Amino acid sequence: MFYSQNEDELIAIGFRIGQKLQAGHVLVLTGDLGAGKTTITKGIARALEIKQMIKSPTYTIVREYEGRLPLYHLDVYRIGDDPDSIDLDDFLYGDGVTVIEWGELLSSDSLDDYLEVFIDKQDDGRKVSFEAHGVKSQLLLEDLQNG
Ligand code: ADP
Ligand code: MG
Repeated sequence: MFYSQNEDELIAIGFRIGQKLQAGHVLVLTGDLGAGKTTITKGIARALEIKQMIKSPTYTIVREYEGRLPLYHLDVYRIGDDPDSIDLDDFLYGDGVTVIEWGELLSSDSLDDYLEVFIDKQDDGRKVSFEAHGVKSQLLLEDLQNG
Protein backbone atom coordinates (compact mmCIF):
# COMPACT_ATOMS: atom_id res chain seq x y z
CA MET A 1 0.00 0.00 0.00
CA PHE A 2 1.25 3.47 -0.90
CA TYR A 3 -0.05 6.91 -0.09
CA SER A 4 0.34 10.07 -2.17
CA GLN A 5 -0.35 13.61 -0.96
CA ASN A 6 -0.31 15.16 -4.41
CA GLU A 7 -0.05 14.58 -8.13
CA ASP A 8 3.76 14.44 -8.17
CA GLU A 9 3.83 11.77 -5.49
CA LEU A 10 1.33 9.71 -7.48
CA ILE A 11 3.57 10.01 -10.54
CA ALA A 12 6.47 8.81 -8.34
CA ILE A 13 4.45 5.74 -7.32
CA GLY A 14 3.79 5.06 -11.01
CA PHE A 15 7.52 5.39 -11.65
CA ARG A 16 8.28 2.76 -9.01
CA ILE A 17 5.77 0.41 -10.62
CA GLY A 18 7.13 1.15 -14.09
CA GLN A 19 10.68 0.25 -13.07
CA LYS A 20 9.54 -3.30 -12.27
CA LEU A 21 7.57 -3.93 -15.44
CA GLN A 22 8.50 -6.53 -18.01
CA ALA A 23 7.02 -7.56 -21.35
CA GLY A 24 3.66 -9.24 -20.91
CA HIS A 25 2.68 -7.50 -17.69
CA VAL A 26 -0.90 -6.24 -17.54
CA LEU A 27 -2.15 -3.62 -15.07
CA VAL A 28 -5.80 -2.81 -14.43
CA LEU A 29 -6.29 0.63 -12.86
CA THR A 30 -9.43 0.85 -10.74
CA GLY A 31 -10.64 4.15 -9.32
CA ASP A 32 -13.28 6.84 -9.78
CA LEU A 33 -13.14 9.52 -12.42
CA GLY A 34 -10.35 11.89 -11.37
CA ALA A 35 -8.79 9.38 -8.98
CA GLY A 36 -5.49 9.51 -10.83
CA LYS A 37 -5.43 6.55 -13.24
CA THR A 38 -3.96 8.62 -16.07
CA THR A 39 -1.62 10.40 -13.65
CA ILE A 40 -0.12 7.13 -12.36
CA THR A 41 0.26 6.01 -16.00
CA LYS A 42 2.44 9.10 -16.60
CA GLY A 43 4.86 7.82 -13.95
CA ILE A 44 4.82 4.33 -15.45
CA ALA A 45 5.58 5.82 -18.88
CA ARG A 46 8.47 7.85 -17.46
CA ALA A 47 10.03 4.69 -16.03
CA LEU A 48 9.65 3.04 -19.43
CA GLU A 49 11.63 5.95 -20.91
CA ILE A 50 8.70 7.12 -23.00
CA LYS A 51 9.27 10.69 -24.13
CA GLN A 52 5.83 11.38 -25.57
CA MET A 53 3.21 13.01 -23.41
CA ILE A 54 0.60 10.60 -22.06
CA LYS A 55 -2.89 11.72 -22.90
CA SER A 56 -6.08 10.14 -21.71
CA PRO A 57 -6.99 7.52 -24.31
CA THR A 58 -10.70 7.90 -23.60
CA TYR A 59 -11.79 8.58 -27.16
CA THR A 60 -9.38 6.27 -28.93
CA ILE A 61 -9.60 3.31 -26.51
CA VAL A 62 -5.95 2.39 -27.03
CA ARG A 63 -2.80 4.46 -27.48
CA GLU A 64 0.61 2.91 -28.14
CA TYR A 65 3.86 4.50 -26.95
CA GLU A 66 7.45 3.52 -27.72
CA GLY A 67 9.92 3.22 -24.84
CA ARG A 68 12.16 0.65 -23.17
CA LEU A 69 9.11 -1.54 -23.79
CA PRO A 70 6.05 -0.59 -25.80
CA LEU A 71 3.23 0.70 -23.60
CA TYR A 72 -0.36 0.00 -24.61
CA HIS A 73 -2.56 2.42 -22.68
CA LEU A 74 -6.30 1.79 -22.76
CA ASP A 75 -9.34 3.42 -21.27
CA VAL A 76 -12.25 1.02 -21.68
CA TYR A 77 -14.87 3.13 -19.92
CA ARG A 78 -16.89 3.38 -23.11
CA ILE A 79 -16.38 -0.21 -24.23
CA GLY A 80 -19.26 -1.47 -22.07
CA ASP A 81 -21.87 -1.42 -24.83
CA ASP A 82 -19.65 -3.22 -27.29
CA PRO A 83 -16.93 -5.34 -25.67
CA ASP A 84 -15.94 -6.78 -29.07
CA SER A 85 -15.01 -3.37 -30.46
CA ILE A 86 -11.39 -3.91 -29.50
CA ASP A 87 -9.21 -6.95 -30.04
CA LEU A 88 -7.08 -7.23 -26.92
CA ASP A 89 -5.18 -10.16 -28.41
CA ASP A 90 -3.45 -7.70 -30.73
CA PHE A 91 -1.14 -6.67 -27.87
CA LEU A 92 -2.09 -8.35 -24.58
CA TYR A 93 0.69 -10.55 -23.12
CA GLY A 94 2.91 -9.69 -26.09
CA ASP A 95 6.07 -7.64 -26.38
CA GLY A 96 4.90 -4.74 -24.24
CA VAL A 97 3.15 -3.62 -21.11
CA THR A 98 -0.61 -3.04 -21.06
CA VAL A 99 -2.25 -0.52 -18.72
CA ILE A 100 -6.05 -0.53 -18.72
CA GLU A 101 -8.09 2.23 -17.08
CA TRP A 102 -11.52 0.94 -15.99
CA GLY A 103 -10.33 -2.60 -16.81
CA GLU A 104 -12.77 -3.99 -14.26
CA LEU A 105 -15.50 -3.28 -16.82
CA LEU A 106 -14.10 -5.90 -19.18
CA SER A 107 -15.73 -9.29 -19.09
CA SER A 108 -14.02 -11.57 -16.61
CA ASP A 109 -12.57 -13.89 -19.24
CA SER A 110 -10.84 -11.14 -21.27
CA LEU A 111 -7.81 -11.06 -18.99
CA ASP A 112 -5.69 -13.90 -17.76
CA ASP A 113 -2.99 -12.65 -15.38
CA TYR A 114 -3.10 -9.02 -14.22
CA LEU A 115 -2.20 -6.76 -11.34
CA GLU A 116 -5.13 -4.67 -10.18
CA VAL A 117 -4.15 -1.23 -8.89
CA PHE A 118 -6.79 0.50 -6.76
CA ILE A 119 -6.58 4.28 -6.47
CA ASP A 120 -8.84 5.71 -3.77
CA LYS A 121 -9.44 9.41 -3.20
CA GLN A 122 -8.92 10.49 0.38
CA ASP A 123 -9.55 14.24 0.49
CA ASP A 124 -6.57 15.60 -1.45
CA GLY A 125 -4.50 12.44 -1.11
CA ARG A 126 -4.70 9.09 -2.83
CA LYS A 127 -4.35 5.60 -1.41
CA VAL A 128 -2.84 3.08 -3.82
CA SER A 129 -3.28 -0.62 -3.13
CA PHE A 130 -2.86 -3.79 -5.14
CA GLU A 131 -4.38 -7.17 -5.80
CA ALA A 132 -2.61 -9.78 -7.89
CA HIS A 133 -4.63 -12.01 -10.19
CA GLY A 134 -2.26 -14.77 -11.30
CA VAL A 135 1.28 -15.96 -10.74
CA LYS A 136 3.05 -13.39 -12.91
CA SER A 137 1.33 -10.46 -11.24
CA GLN A 138 1.91 -11.98 -7.79
CA LEU A 139 5.65 -11.97 -8.52
CA LEU A 140 5.41 -8.38 -9.74
CA LEU A 141 3.60 -7.38 -6.55
CA GLU A 142 6.23 -9.02 -4.35
CA ASP A 143 8.93 -7.25 -6.34
CA LEU A 144 7.13 -3.93 -5.76
CA GLN A 145 6.71 -4.50 -2.05
CA ASN A 146 10.38 -5.36 -1.66
CA GLY A 147 11.21 -1.84 -2.80
P1 ADP B 1 -8.40 9.46 -13.92
O1 ADP B 1 -7.57 9.01 -15.08
O2 ADP B 1 -8.47 8.45 -12.80
O3 ADP B 1 -9.77 9.92 -14.30
P2 ADP B 1 -6.57 11.71 -13.83
O4 ADP B 1 -5.23 11.15 -13.52
O5 ADP B 1 -6.87 12.09 -15.23
O6 ADP B 1 -7.68 10.72 -13.24
O7 ADP B 1 -6.83 13.00 -12.95
C1 ADP B 1 -6.54 13.11 -11.58
C2 ADP B 1 -6.81 14.54 -11.16
O8 ADP B 1 -6.78 14.67 -9.74
C3 ADP B 1 -5.80 15.52 -11.73
O9 ADP B 1 -6.49 16.65 -12.19
C4 ADP B 1 -4.93 15.87 -10.52
O10 ADP B 1 -4.42 17.17 -10.61
C5 ADP B 1 -5.91 15.75 -9.37
N1 ADP B 1 -5.31 15.42 -8.07
C6 ADP B 1 -5.57 16.03 -6.90
N2 ADP B 1 -4.91 15.49 -5.87
C7 ADP B 1 -4.21 14.45 -6.37
C8 ADP B 1 -3.32 13.47 -5.81
N3 ADP B 1 -3.02 13.42 -4.51
N4 ADP B 1 -2.79 12.56 -6.64
C9 ADP B 1 -3.09 12.59 -7.96
N5 ADP B 1 -3.91 13.49 -8.53
C10 ADP B 1 -4.47 14.41 -7.77
MG1 MG C 1 -8.00 8.71 -17.12
